[in-house]
Parts: sequence; C-alpha cells; structure tokens
Amino acid sequence: MGTRASIQLQDSEIREIQAETGFSHNQIVRLYSRFANLDKSRNGSLSRADFLRIPELAINPLGDRLVQSFFQENTDINFRQFMQVLSRFRPIKANPEKNKLNTREEKLKFAFKMYDLDGDELISKNELLTILHMMVGTNISEEQLGSIADRTISEVDDDKDNCISFQEFVKAMERVDVEQKMSIRFLH
Ligand code: CA
Ligand code: CA
Repeated sequence: MGTRASIQLQDSEIREIQAETGFSHNQIVRLYSRFANLDKSRNGSLSRADFLRIPELAINPLGDRLVQSFFQENTDINFRQFMQVLSRFRPIKANPEKNKLNTREEKLKFAFKMYDLDGDELISKNELLTILHMMVGTNISEEQLGSIADRTISEVDDDKDNCISFQEFVKAMERVDVEQKMSIRFLH
C-alpha cells in the first residue's frame, strides 16, 4: 500500500465518523481536506507542529494549551481522533441526541484540561497563574495576577483545599455562555 492509499478516506470510515461525531458527510469531507493540508508529512497523522500551523491557533494566546489538550497521549493524531476533538467544539444544539461529545459537560471537561497543566484533576493556584500569564501577557503586574488568582480560587473553592476541582469548575462556569465561547465555526 502506497502513501497515497493510506491517507485516503474510505466511505465506511466516513459513516463511522458521522455516527461518532455528528458531523455531516460533507463536513467530514471538507475537514478531511483541511486535515490533509496540515499533514505535511503525508503519513495520515498530525504532529503538534502541524497543528500550530492553523492560523486561528497560532494567534490565540491559549493556542499552545489547546493544542496540548488535543495530544493527550503525546503521539501524533489521526483523522478520526482529530474529528473526535473537533466535535467537542460543535455548537451544542446542532445535533444533541446523536452526539455526546459536544455537550456542555464535554466542553467544560475540555476547558478544565486546558487549565490542569499537570493532569492531576485539580487546578492549582500556580496553574491558574500560568494560564493567566498566557492570557494577559505582561499587561498586568505579578501582584495583581496573584490577587486575581487568589480571589478566583476562594470564590469557587467549596472544600477549601486551595485548588479547583472539576465539580467546582462546573459550578463557577454556571453563568458562562460555554456555547458561545467553545463553539468554533470551522466550516465558515
Ligand atoms: Ca493540576
Ligand atoms: Ca477545591
């Protein structure tokens, strides 16, 4: 089997991805061509460096964290895994019964992982500070950032362990329009 054949998308695969992610046949075909364009090595998978060529990610201060959360296993990802991640960004109302990955909870899990840098299922003050740094750059003093982090944690820290658990995170995000913030219109 040559390189060409290995990166071709089979009809059966399209149907499986459709069932798994809720994307339509046409959307899958179009995203496949974006995937193939990013896949410079033409081996059917994307590396972290490939991802950072997506302009929307390259200019996003959290782009690197976002890319990191795509690569949980630290290996390159294939098209199917790529689609599973993207499906978390589909608008919540697009296809609610068929698709479980674009629910509010899945979106929040994904966002939580972006903050939880060491993957211990808790957001510590240091992790929060690291992310705040990425978001605001050097516009705010160390001291101000420290007090923002302290205030954020004390507001949501129900069990007083000085960390934010996923449950506390969900509660803190109750009033945030996750739909608006975490639905990326890739296809427009
Ligand atoms: Ca952590
Ligand atoms: Ca806590």
